[in-house]
Amino acid sequence: MAEQTKYVLDEADLPTQWYNVIPDLPEPPPPPLHPGTREPVGPDDLAPLFPQALIAQEVATDRYVDIPEEVREVYRLWRPSPLYRARRLERVLGTPARIYYKYEGVSPVGSHKPNTAVPQAFYNAAEGVRRLTTETGAGQWGSALAFACAQYGLECEVWQVRASYDQKPYRKLMMETFGATVHPSPSELTESGRAILKQHPDSTGSLGIAISEAVEQAAQDPDARYALGSVLNHVLLHQTVIGEEALKQFELAGDTPDVLVGCTGGGSNFGGLAFPFLREKLAGRMDPVIRAVEPAACPSLTRGKYAYDFGDTAGLTPLLKMHTLGHEFIPDPIHAGGLRYHGMSPLISHIHELGLIEAIAIGQQECFAAGVRFARSEGIIPAPEPTHALAACIREALRCKETGEEKVILTALCGHAHLDLPAYGAYLAGDMVDDELSEATLEASLATLP
Ligand SMILES: *Cc1c(COP(=O)(O)O)cnc(C)c1O
Repeated sequence: MAEQTKYVLDEADLPTQWYNVIPDLPEPPPPPLHPGTREPVGPDDLAPLFPQALIAQEVATDRYVDIPEEVREVYRLWRPSPLYRARRLERVLGTPARIYYKYEGVSPVGSHKPNTAVPQAFYNAAEGVRRLTTETGAGQWGSALAFACAQYGLECEVWQVRASYDQKPYRKLMMETFGATVHPSPSELTESGRAILKQHPDSTGSLGIAISEAVEQAAQDPDARYALGSVLNHVLLHQTVIGEEALKQFELAGDTPDVLVGCTGGGSNFGGLAFPFLREKLAGRMDPVIRAVEPAACPSLTRGKYAYDFGDTAGLTPLLKMHTLGHEFIPDPIHAGGLRYHGMSPLISHIHELGLIEAIAIGQQECFAAGVRFARSEGIIPAPEPTHALAACIREALRCKETGEEKVILTALCGHAHLDLPAYGAYLAGDMVDDELSEATLEASLATLP
């Protein structure tokens, strides 16, 4: 038989449960705190923002959570997603390493985000919510939630970071086609937006500001709730379908990963792939090195402080214990919009503190070089975010070339770049820069920690 390239599962192999890593950890992550009382937040504090089912999942102590059949039915539109062996990339690199990638670009919006958008919309609709508000940076999350809301008949209102709203008209059109309403952020529609515009009339926005606007709107409307596309425990929980499928696909391939790399913005695609493998590692059934890769321009895990901070700029959210660059931090306008968040998932942060995962930061030029190399060999143009994972993957494969080690590398290819091609245009034209985040800027931003 010819050497296999693609490992495909049947619909019958679609996972029936999400995996909750928390009970398998040596200790649970520190709880979110109420910004006023500094006491752990309770379900009542979160009820204006999230439906009960998701609040329950946020603090779930069971190792597995059943996936509702109504959600699996929508998942079947694109799941199980394929696992590929990157034989052409291996050949180009001349590496003895075996490289695999789990491809999430097959979803309706081209990324892993619908894995959580669909259950979030489902639970809200089931509890009688009529409207969901959210923010979007690169436009991936907004598109995913717009698609998911259309599945269950919910209204969807999105605050899109101004810079991305202006640069990515196609994402906005995609959201509108799915029936969503899209506002540039900061906007005049919210107190948080107006406060920013008063100080900075030309503000190009940030994820932190857009979150403040969406949260403020949801909190004011009893029929509305808010949806977050990353960072929180329930989001990472939903994304574990990626890793559960990948484990089955590795069985088909008869292989076991030695190194697992994924890009981290808020941590959801990385956690989704990594947690089921971490379960196997903690149980002693395999021992992969698990490595998070972030942009050098927004290095929360590698240079941020592990401290309680707000999830948004205006300080409306609970305090989260996480690796943070400070909630007022506005990263350089790098091309991987999905990786420009000031904090990191509290769960990923905690697991990093426990020493169970590693983290590195890479500049965007090396990442896009990796993206182009991947596109020319494997035929998929990676979204700007996973080029970070691919750059780390190529570094590892080239190390193997030097040492002759036949390592097995697994990477999350969490989306394609069909609506992000101007980023490749900038790279190909030689217009892309790597601005190092200065120690002084970082210190000034960390001084704003609550
Ligand atoms: C949103 C997004 C990211 C960053 O979010 P995570 O929660 O860290 O996964 C990365 N890649 C793509 C394609 C995205 O859409």
